[in-house]
Amino acid sequence: MGLRNDVSATHGRDTLYIGQVPETGKEVAFMSHWTTPLTELVAEDPDHLRVSRLDADLFVDYMKAFYHGMNVDVLPAPLAWTTWDKTSQPRRKANLPKHIGLAHGTQCTQIRVRIPPDGAFAAQLNLNDIIDAAMEMLPSNAYALLLLVDHDMYESDDDDFCCGRAYGGSRVAVVQTARYNPALDVHEGIDHSHMWPLSHCKVFVDRLCAVEEVVPKPPTKQQIAASRNGPMRAALDAAVAGNGSLNAEQGASALWFSRLARTVSHELGHCFGMAHCVYYACNMQGTAGMKEDVRQPPYLCPVCEAKVGHAIIGELKGGGKGEKQVWMRERCVALQSFCARLRGLGMEAAMWRGLEAWLATRLERVE
Ligand SMILES: [Zn+2]
Ligand SMILES: [Zn+2]
Repeated sequence: MGLRNDVSATHGRDTLYIGQVPETGKEVAFMSHWTTPLTELVAEDPDHLRVSRLDADLFVDYMKAFYHGMNVDVLPAPLAWTTWDKTSQPRRKANLPKHIGLAHGTQCTQIRVRIPPDGAFAAQLNLNDIIDAAMEMLPSNAYALLLLVDHDMYESDDDDFCCGRAYGGSRVAVVQTARYNPALDVHEGIDHSHMWPLSHCKVFVDRLCAVEEVVPKPPTKQQIAASRNGPMRAALDAAVAGNGSLNAEQGASALWFSRLARTVSHELGHCFGMAHCVYYACNMQGTAGMKEDVRQPPYLCPVCEAKVGHAIIGELKGGGKGEKQVWMRERCVALQSFCARLRGLGMEAAMWRGLEAWLATRLERVE
């Protein structure tokens, strides 16, 4: 849709922008409670409901490491939800407005509103309208723009909800935070003992494949040997080592951020022109729903990593094979530093422990 946001070094489109979650104007204060899962569906632990608001800065820092070599910044234009027209003020509390406005700079975009079919939230917003707004606010030096929205979203009349979407050609993307809230995990049937990297458990994979009538094969000698050491083994060991220092609220916040960070890197990957990965376990693999989402790795497989290296070092910076090799190492180190920083912030989760260990073992092997 739309014209491709043509990028090259000569166009100066070299910055990835992350939009801060829009503020909620006083005139639409009723929208604030739309971000809270309706209580009858959520876990009984009330700590899960008090997950603090996530800041765009941390996503910016992660993307600086993930897309090492790119400029990454918070979108300077403030974003705010506001009224669209007089129908935006519901007369009674239970009524929903048909539209609300997303204000950006001097402009405002009309966003459709509806009740989610599964009733998980009081209201959800139309994703295509938000994408239109993103295209209108794309800065002239943007390589791509990703908006974070803390309300539930839908894409078409037929779907229940949509967690995120990128229009790679237009280089805009939007990710919602609401559905990734760990408070919904019980309702969604998320298996906490098999989130990445524990999703690589053979018994678990065999059980999932059995539904498709795939008969599991016993592991080969090489598979058994490979599973005893290497980056995946390190990731698994680090993930199960656990960390009891976080309280329930910190743990839920950290888990929530880890899911969103993985989705943000994935959606921006589409803005780099990548389609879903069909080669390996990879951050660019497609997922159908939250259960599959939590099994997705945070790392890029060698194929997708080479694509990103080519886009940044080859296309944007005019580098060659040697520079790409240096970039690959530097990128791993930058990601390791990010994982270590999260630990200091009390934001570590099994995914980050797994990724940090995976990166360390990988770096040993490429030296
Ligand atoms: Zn995707
Ligand atoms: Zn891949």
